[in-house]
Amino acid sequence: MPLTTLCRGNQIVALVPTPTSLSISNPPSCSSANDFTKGSPSTVDESGDPALFTEGIAEICRRMGVEFRFGTKIRRLAVERKRISQVETNDGPLDADLYVLALGKDSASLVRPLGIGLPIYPVKGYSRTLSLRGWNTAPTMPLVDYDRRVGLVRFGDRFRIVGKAEFVGDDDRHDPRRAGALVDSVTDVFPELAAREVIEDWAGLRPMTPDGMPIIGPSPYENLFVNTGHGHLGLTLSCGSAAVIGSLVAGQAPEVDIAAYSVNRFRL
Ligand SMILES: Cc1cc2nc3c(=O)[nH]c(=O)nc-3n(C[C@H](O)[C@H](O)[C@H](O)COP(=O)(O)OP(=O)(O)OC[C@H]3O[C@@H](n4cnc5c(N)ncnc54)[C@H](O)[C@@H]3O)c2cc1C
Repeated sequence: MPLTTLCRGNQIVALVPTPTSLSISNPPSCSSANDFTKGSPSTVDESGDPALFTEGIAEICRRMGVEFRFGTKIRRLAVERKRISQVETNDGPLDADLYVLALGKDSASLVRPLGIGLPIYPVKGYSRTLSLRGWNTAPTMPLVDYDRRVGLVRFGDRFRIVGKAEFVGDDDRHDPRRAGALVDSVTDVFPELAAREVIEDWAGLRPMTPDGMPIIGPSPYENLFVNTGHGHLGLTLSCGSAAVIGSLVAGQAPEVDIAAYSVNRFRL
């Protein structure tokens, strides 16, 4: 979807999908704080509901025979020669022909005893979802404000505000004051967001790598592949990463060059 650059004064503050009525050759100027009008097209971003997406993918996988074991905790990977021989869990051992490591920020600790170094650091972010009841003119398009470092996305009658990057280790506890501060940071532009019913609060840990790129590819163990470290873009990169891992698991060459995502690139 083409995107439009939005301005506050003469500063770029957001990218939104381009309304079809907006003329690229003759963009209106932007002058006041709430004057979101000036535009130049871009094609770099889209938005969607992550819960709907993941639940939908899970349902498709179930129909194809995938069995999910929610609540099962992996404790250790057992190794024989240069192969993973078993996964030890709180629900007993599991074994498979091939294994894919995809545990987000917890990936590193599981394979450290195997001599695989993955520099993945948890970086905390917050999300607050508000009811839109009664605000009929709320933006229907996603917004990214690079000044305030917040994203705003509408899902039907809900409005989600996300942002922040905290370096607090493994602590994923939610702090309502931090989520409230996110909302406060945009109420000068959208006063309608003040004092709305909070539908959902969430804090999560983004699995960041030093170079901001995911870690995807084979590992030193011949039946273990890695698909992790997607940082702040795990949803965006999920399908592309899955296509790469799918090819590797099937013994085929991925469609893209994966050298830049290599497990070995950090030389740990
Ligand atoms: C506030 C916020 C906003 C974001 N917004 C966006 C966005 O707009 N677009 C985007 O693309 N990305 C976004 N992200 C990033 C995205 O959420 C992550 O990149 C993505 O979740 C990473 O996916 P993952 O499956 O690799 O890891 P995770 O989602 O962390 O999943 C890892 C899973 O492994 C499980 N696990 C860990 N250890 C074990 C174990 N020992 N045994 C069993 N299970 C285990 C965990 O319970 C978890 O379910 C955002 C993140 C945050 C925090």
